[in-house]
Amino acid sequence: GSFEDLGISPQILKGIFSMNFKKPSKIQEKALPLLLNDPPSNMIAQSQSGTGKTAAFVITVLSRLDYSKPNQPQALCLAPSRELARQIEGVVKSIGQFVDGLTIQAAVPGTVERGAKVNAMVVIGTPGTVMDLIKRRQFDATQMKVLCLDEADNMLDQQGLGDQCLRVKQMMPSVNQILLFSATFPEGVMRYAQQFSPNANEIKL
Ligand code: AMP
Repeated sequence: GSFEDLGISPQILKGIFSMNFKKPSKIQEKALPLLLNDPPSNMIAQSQSGTGKTAAFVITVLSRLDYSKPNQPQALCLAPSRELARQIEGVVKSIGQFVDGLTIQAAVPGTVERGAKVNAMVVIGTPGTVMDLIKRRQFDATQMKVLCLDEADNMLDQQGLGDQCLRVKQMMPSVNQILLFSATFPEGVMRYAQQFSPNANEIKL
């Protein structure tokens, strides 16, 4: 398979090729046709780190945005640590570097001042910080379309983080695509994942 056959926009393709990705990795080959399909559907994807799952969900996020609303948060990627959130932010910036009008913002501890707005299309954050920002009305989550959890096993497994992820999800009434990516889904976590991301396509590498 090739990236060109997946219906990815030329601007996003340019970003992909500028990273020297020549063809989809195995997980991308399995996941992207489902991820990019219309209407959007949920996914639970299990794949080791290093297999290209970040690019898979980043390409999806960039493909779902309404570029006529640059100041409206539309997609959120959550990660369990600020370091991982920053890494994801870097991948969004790289793959999205040729996408006109793309706005990206990190929402991790210490990045958004009290009273300031989260007003980018793509937000990458940690659950506690994002939850606080929405509660304080600094982050309008009402038009969010895509919610993506990286290291989902880690997030849904821990009492506190799992609750925060659920609260965040509940504050996003118009989300129509929930993506859970993780290297492992232990049985108990999988049950919770299936509630969190109902009727998901489940793929495993
Ligand atoms: P990840 O699984 O998201 O941690 O990605 C692992 C590594 O694979 C990263 O360094 C990516 O830049 C790289 N990568 C992702 N997709 C591809 C691809 N289709 N071809 C070559 N390298 C890739």
